[in-house]
Amino acid sequence: MMDGNEVYTKLNCGECGIFFFVPAAFDNERRQHKEAHFVCPNGHQRCYKETLADQLGKKCDELRDRLTVSEKSLLAAERKVSRLEKKARRK
Ligand SMILES: [Zn+2]
Repeated sequence: MMDGNEVYTKLNCGECGIFFFVPAAFDNERRQHKEAHFVCPNGHQRCYKETLADQLGKKCDELRDRLTVSEKSLLAAERKVSRLEKKARRK
């Protein structure tokens, strides 16, 4: 039933390029299963190549990489600060 509170997910058919919306619950349910098929409004059979778990795994790797970069630059900045502090104390 449409009550204006439903959440929809925008999908894009990789075959014809049409954009269409499906209820987020449908999208989430489909993404649990790799190779779960559905059909675009133009009749192209589509399937999710990656499950939600796959997507989250990738996101997790990406965030871990970014964290590593941030930690390295923080460490470099801390070294620079302590070098400058030592230098300042010597004067
Ligand atoms: Zn299509």
